[in-house]
Amino acid sequence: MVNNTTRLLGLEGLAVADVVSAGEGVEQGPIVHLVTADEQARACPACGAFAVRVKEWVTTRPRDLPVAGRRCDLRWRKRRWYCDEQACPRGTFTEHVAQVPARARLTRRLRQAAGTAVADGGRTIVQSARDHGMSWPVVSAAFTAHATRVLPDQPAPVTVLGIDEIRRGRPRWTWDETTDSWQTVVDRWHVGFVDISGGQGLLGQVEGRTSATVTGWLGQRSQTWRDGVAFVAIDMCTIFKSAIRTALPQARLVVDHFHLVQLANQAVTEVRRRVTVQVRGRRGRKGNREWELRNRLTRSAARMHGSQLDPMIDDLMALPKRIGVPILAAWNAKEDLLDLLALARAHPARTVVADRLFRFYDRCAASGLPELQRLASTVETWWPEILAFIQTGITNAGSEGTNRVIKTVARDAYGFRNPENQRLRTRCATTRRSRGFLHPA
Ligand SMILES: [Zn+2]
Repeated sequence: MVNNTTRLLGLEGLAVADVVSAGEGVEQGPIVHLVTADEQARACPACGAFAVRVKEWVTTRPRDLPVAGRRCDLRWRKRRWYCDEQACPRGTFTEHVAQVPARARLTRRLRQAAGTAVADGGRTIVQSARDHGMSWPVVSAAFTAHATRVLPDQPAPVTVLGIDEIRRGRPRWTWDETTDSWQTVVDRWHVGFVDISGGQGLLGQVEGRTSATVTGWLGQRSQTWRDGVAFVAIDMCTIFKSAIRTALPQARLVVDHFHLVQLANQAVTEVRRRVTVQVRGRRGRKGNREWELRNRLTRSAARMHGSQLDPMIDDLMALPKRIGVPILAAWNAKEDLLDLLALARAHPARTVVADRLFRFYDRCAASGLPELQRLASTVETWWPEILAFIQTGITNAGSEGTNRVIKTVARDAYGFRNPENQRLRTRCATTRRSRGFLHPA
């Protein structure tokens, strides 16, 4: 029974009896007549006994993947059998093979291809449905089946864990008449857990951003898994800090330098705005040198050319003393902090770190500027975690990258209504590389 056409079609358990052209100029591919070629097909699904008595012949038309680019019209003529086993509750059954289970209208491989296109091929459900000629709910179910099969139930051990906030959807407010103010109704903040050292991408995403959210997710992991986490990279967020202290007491906390640099730049900008208003009595504008330099002031000196840097310092010195001096002090403090953070990954000696930290504190204290004192006290609060960054060079960039993937997937899908679907989709998208789907051809 096995002929070349059967081999070409490759549907296990079925043999091609005939291929008939569907007619001249028809876009649809040919009609393929199939017969059963597997003895197992007549085993009763309830008791497993082989049936011998035929009740009737039926024809099913399972949909399949295109053959050589053409969608074929499969017609499987199969038998309905009587099960004659005394104890068997089943009266009759139709033949079934692995690729075309009973009552299935799609072949297993078609369903799988539609699910794989979403999970590993970066398609949206709608596009995969169009490509495979299927409906949205069927592709969605195929994707869920595929994703739950390829994604591990429990995350593998992680050495460096990243925790970050993700905003899902947009917040909504309503006007509260009693308090005369806008009240938040939907604050869709989620917490994302990311494998920074390995290739597991997004490990989990939980609704809410409280301490309980973090400890709750970590509590679902095994003790061995929790013990294996050596470092946790977080934003400068006290909620995460206290949650990790309780849930992963052995892990060392690391804060990202990115947010520190942002804070330092904010301090510079605040000082500039405040002194401008105090001295000029209005906001800065064109013609005020400190306003014109606003972008250069927040750029790292290490990334500036000398031809920009030196005139900037000269210009600040030339400004009225009550404007130029505080701005320059803030800028210097910011640069001191950047110098300190630049030691990351360079395995600095303790004394070098201590020297640069002292220089920064000293500058902040000497300036007498409230903005710099606040910055210094933030650094002081987070010093153990900042030191961990300087010593390990671990950053939360992996989490931020995952956030970008989450947003891209959500935009492609025009948003998600079901958070569970979104979690599956982003987990598939962020693990594509480690699962080997992002290698160039
Ligand atoms: Zn039976």
